[in-house]
Amino acid sequence: MTAPHTYITTTIPYVNARPHIGFALEVVQADVLARFGRLRGDLVRFQAGTDDNSLKNVLAAQAAGEDVRDFVDRNAEAFLALGPALSLTVDDVIRTSRDARHRPGVERFWRAAGAAGDLYRKRYEGLYCTGCEQFYSPAELRAGRCPEHDTEPVPVAEENWFFRLSRYGGALREAITDGALRIEPAGRRNEVLALIDAGLEDFSVSRPAERAGGWGIPVPGDPGQVIYVWFDALCNYVTALGYGTGGDAYQQWWSGEGRRIHLLGKGVLRFHAVYWPAMLLSSRQPLPTDIFVHDYLTAGGRKISKSSGSGADPVALAAQYGADAVRWWLLREVPRVGDADFTVERLIARADGELANGIGNLVNRVVAMSHRYRDGLAPGPAATAVPAPAAEPVPVPAGGEDLAAACGLVGGRVGAALAEFDFRRATAAVWAIADEANRFINRVRPWELAGAERGDGGQSLDAVLAALFEACSVLGRELEPFLPDAAARITRQCTPRDGRLPRAVPVFRRLSR
Ligand SMILES: [Zn+2]
Repeated sequence: MTAPHTYITTTIPYVNARPHIGFALEVVQADVLARFGRLRGDLVRFQAGTDDNSLKNVLAAQAAGEDVRDFVDRNAEAFLALGPALSLTVDDVIRTSRDARHRPGVERFWRAAGAAGDLYRKRYEGLYCTGCEQFYSPAELRAGRCPEHDTEPVPVAEENWFFRLSRYGGALREAITDGALRIEPAGRRNEVLALIDAGLEDFSVSRPAERAGGWGIPVPGDPGQVIYVWFDALCNYVTALGYGTGGDAYQQWWSGEGRRIHLLGKGVLRFHAVYWPAMLLSSRQPLPTDIFVHDYLTAGGRKISKSSGSGADPVALAAQYGADAVRWWLLREVPRVGDADFTVERLIARADGELANGIGNLVNRVVAMSHRYRDGLAPGPAATAVPAPAAEPVPVPAGGEDLAAACGLVGGRVGAALAEFDFRRATAAVWAIADEANRFINRVRPWELAGAERGDGGQSLDAVLAALFEACSVLGRELEPFLPDAAARITRQCTPRDGRLPRAVPVFRRLSR
């Protein structure tokens, strides 16, 4: 029997500028799901990439007076730098302009849609937002302006290839309502159903090569046109698996029983939950199983754009405050539904309050007490030099019931929360252990128990230390998907060497001065 397969993707961002904290949210969420899946024994592939073929990249490069390829390469590098900066376990990265897997896959996709009778040429006039790379109908605009960019779309008249989206409304609706294609949160699912019910119109899937500055993938058999960047970009989820170039990754990750999870922001919902599944149906491929849509971050109360400055640069933030602090803020403060406002002050307050003062202080106190009162032996049911085997439950000392419950229930709580893509609830379940453990220490005052010990007793202090040490060990294990670096430090601190625990060193540094 093979382990369940889980394929997790993030959107591939335009590389018209450096990444911002809003994109960091998406990759950190994906990383948590990937790490959690692997710990559970699933086979996981975490796929990321960059969208190099956008007209936006061309315009941004021209505005900067730079060669498009150099410009795109440099910004793509900045996105790739998120991986090490935020301790991401990305398995594979695809860059749509230079990856040899991509173009053949897009061409195969195009031909499959053509063979299904879903592509045709039509003269078209409409209002186009270059920021979105899409046409808008007047009804979709807000006071004549793009709802995403608040800019006035420009009238464009040209002959393009169209995709017969109108054919797929019924099939899409069915996939969503019968649960084959799960869209979370429910509000987004309803939004997609409303779009479908309003009637789907065929959409343009090519641009004149001239208007695209020669950038992009030529339409097979019609070199005067390039494939619309969204059609091109969406294909990355399968071209990265060898759709078009062969190999067995596609079979393994896209056509099997496993889960295919897309993470994305609310601004690109229509592309992922309507266009993309319809394209897959047309080319006779399986649909994604899950689409999780996050809302947006603001920075200091203002909408984040890629040009809003270094205060929201996740690589710079991680360099200054550490990957743990950045990840913790994103996971602990951003709600499943609704926007969240990022400030450096909030990041510091959250990290110092819960990481340095909460979890770090707990681990430090427990290890220090083990040295002070028990000569550095790992506290356990028998207070031995080796940790208690997992099968042997740690007895619950009087007053430690809430702590024992937080430790015992954490696995189930995290699993249930992540199944609903609720990262805040998942981290709250882990944080509850440190919170309960610190309360327990303040309540039972182990130092008083130690003072009361005479040669014979001490049973009570042993039980208290064992419960606390167990809590630290559980924290080291359960934090791994969320704060992998800190989890490793905690586990190291709780693992005896030569029979004794290492001397207590701070697990987190304090960020505020
Ligand atoms: Zn726009």
